[in-house]
Amino acid sequence: MIDTSSARADGLNKCPRCGSSEIQYSLTAKALVCSYCRHTWNEENAEQAFGLDSSIAELRGHTMASGTSDVRDDLTTMTLKCQGCGAEVVVNVAQELQARCHWCRQTLSINSQIPNGAVPDAVLPFQLTREEAIERIDAFTAKRRTFADGRFKQEYVPENVMGVYIPYLVVDGNMHALLQGSGEVTTRQYTVTTGSGDNKRTETYYDADVYSIQRAFDLLVDDLTVESAARYDAKDNQRATNNILNAVQPYDTENAVAYNSNYLKNFTSERRDLNVRDVDDEVEDRFLAIARAKVLPTISGYDRGVRWEREGVAVRGTRWVAVYVPVWLYSYADSAKGQDSLVHYIAVNARNGNTMGSVPVSHPKIFAVACAAGTVAAVIGALVGFGSYFF
Ligand SMILES: [Zn+2]
Ligand SMILES: [Zn+2]
Repeated sequence: MIDTSSARADGLNKCPRCGSSEIQYSLTAKALVCSYCRHTWNEENAEQAFGLDSSIAELRGHTMASGTSDVRDDLTTMTLKCQGCGAEVVVNVAQELQARCHWCRQTLSINSQIPNGAVPDAVLPFQLTREEAIERIDAFTAKRRTFADGRFKQEYVPENVMGVYIPYLVVDGNMHALLQGSGEVTTRQYTVTTGSGDNKRTETYYDADVYSIQRAFDLLVDDLTVESAARYDAKDNQRATNNILNAVQPYDTENAVAYNSNYLKNFTSERRDLNVRDVDDEVEDRFLAIARAKVLPTISGYDRGVRWEREGVAVRGTRWVAVYVPVWLYSYADSAKGQDSLVHYIAVNARNGNTMGSVPVSHPKIFAVACAAGTVAAVIGALVGFGSYFF
């Protein structure tokens, strides 16, 4: 376990220059700004601050940053002692990580990695402003406007674009990968004709050499990202936005800074509710997928394909860090459909501007456009595409 808490006790989280607790993240400065003395700064790069950049090849066992420990549902309130006036202030940590001291009015913060799912080890701060995100959303919907549902256009409210921190677990892995199977190389191809007249049949035959293949190698994986909020997990949630959030990746998690609750002020944040053991099967599957992709260039000679009969990764060591990544999110529920309506999302990666979404589409409009073009095939194509709600 790597302790990622700051040296600060819970309570006053002070400006390093003047000692004020009135601090917030400014998208203009792209830094924390003190409201009193205007001092601007960012927390230290998390990997360097916590020694998370040490060699992956040396990882053994499971190394976990303190923000990745199992979420405790019973942790709903904490009592903070105000270092300013000595008052004891109860913070509802299920709702927020800051509270104002009711006596001296200073802001008190949770500065330690308490295991309530809301406190990450590191934060990747917002880079794109709300205005820049709205431009991306406008461009995204404009391209699809011909098909967009009339009500969606009417009800589109750019002001409803919200800045949300989404919890991810970032994993490094040190492993040995082993793939065993067989591959075939064509040695001869020929056709055989049998029968005559109407019964004449021609068949193509192949002769191939079959080789048994083995690939065994060490594999180091750096910064694999996994969603750690169940409602974004598509596996058992049909309304999940997982696909959209995946589509706006990647995130430059190597630039995440040490957690400071002031980064989260004025943004919404989603609590992590999945623990390391809830996602480690998925992580191992993804390690294996990376291993399979790694060997592809070495098996291109087997022109009739390769079948892996035994494959696996023996994990020597992993390192886990809880990171909040920034997303501008626009959500839209079709008002006419009430409770049953699907919620549509457009997400903008607030680091690199990648945008993806599910714009609701009107059936009659797709049909009209396709008919105008005079192609029935296009109608079928469009409706198949529509089924997944993605463009
Ligand atoms: Zn200050
Ligand atoms: Zn106080």
